[in-house]
Amino acid sequence: MTVTAVAPVKKVNPNAPSEETVLSVDHYTDRLFKFRLTRPQSFRFRSGEFIMIGLPKENGKPLLRAYSVASPNWDDTLEFYSIKVPDGPLTSRLQKIVPGDKVLLGKKPVGTLVHDALTPGKRLYCFSTGTGFAPFASVIRDPETYDKFDEVIVTHTCRDVAELQYSQEIVESFLNDPDIGELAQGKLRLYATCTREAFERKGRTTDLIESGKLFSDLGVPKLNRDTDRAMICGSIDFTKDMKALMESHGLKEGSNSEPADFVIERAFVG
Ligand SMILES: Cc1cc2nc3c(=O)[nH]c(=O)nc-3n(C[C@H](O)[C@H](O)[C@H](O)COP(=O)(O)OP(=O)(O)OC[C@H]3O[C@@H](n4cnc5c(N)ncnc54)[C@H](O)[C@@H]3O)c2cc1C
Repeated sequence: MTVTAVAPVKKVNPNAPSEETVLSVDHYTDRLFKFRLTRPQSFRFRSGEFIMIGLPKENGKPLLRAYSVASPNWDDTLEFYSIKVPDGPLTSRLQKIVPGDKVLLGKKPVGTLVHDALTPGKRLYCFSTGTGFAPFASVIRDPETYDKFDEVIVTHTCRDVAELQYSQEIVESFLNDPDIGELAQGKLRLYATCTREAFERKGRTTDLIESGKLFSDLGVPKLNRDTDRAMICGSIDFTKDMKALMESHGLKEGSNSEPADFVIERAFVG
């Protein structure tokens, strides 16, 4: 009798990240860049969710971090908007990727900055600082947003004017998109402010809400639970202050399991 050697079956972890190809990379400042990856056909997400992405570590174990998907869920490819932390374990290397490189993409998108976590309203606010704009680059390019709301106001606050370029680019290109931009015309507005450099609008969003300037600039009534819903994403201080402000206006925090008036996600842990 001949015994044939059978190769050991290699166990495949169904939750292991997939290897995606970098399609493009654009640098905005020495702190910010965006990149596009191939999207596996099986990768489904709700606009506004985040996913673990990363690079293989030198010793083999992958180095992964949470990233908001900045592209909408109908897009064939995946866009991300990233910080460059000089000594950051991931971004000190990620900022050097070029088209053709591989980036790891997790399998389970999650998050609270999604329509499912909000009850119906008339006006949607997307309040952001820094890379906290990333999930809103997804939400504001999703047709569902304009089915659900009559008006969409996205705010973006950064220290320097150059850091506002990405949000301006996304809003302008979406409004001018010949296929889909019509959905957002007359509904979507960007309210950009800068805290450090001279700019047409200056100041922190929280101060501009408290003083009422944000509402008078936009020509809308002050926050009202009956009509307004909000998604908030930014630094730890920003999200903390915004939560208190929302609650002081009578809005209730929601979640996927208990939708309500506003939802929050921190843009990073630190
Ligand atoms: C839910 C969630 C979603 C996220 N989405 C994004 C995203 O879309 N884009 C993105 O660039 N980052 C995002 N982050 C942060 C990201 O996970 C990493 O922290 C970041 O890529 C830096 O990784 P690192 O390993 O280089 O440094 P880390 O060791 O992770 O961070 C080092 C320090 O850098 C600072 N830092 C980290 N991220 C940021 C940031 N985004 N803005 C300002 N300071 C920061 C913090 O002080 C932190 O302690 C998200 C984090 C969370 C929790």
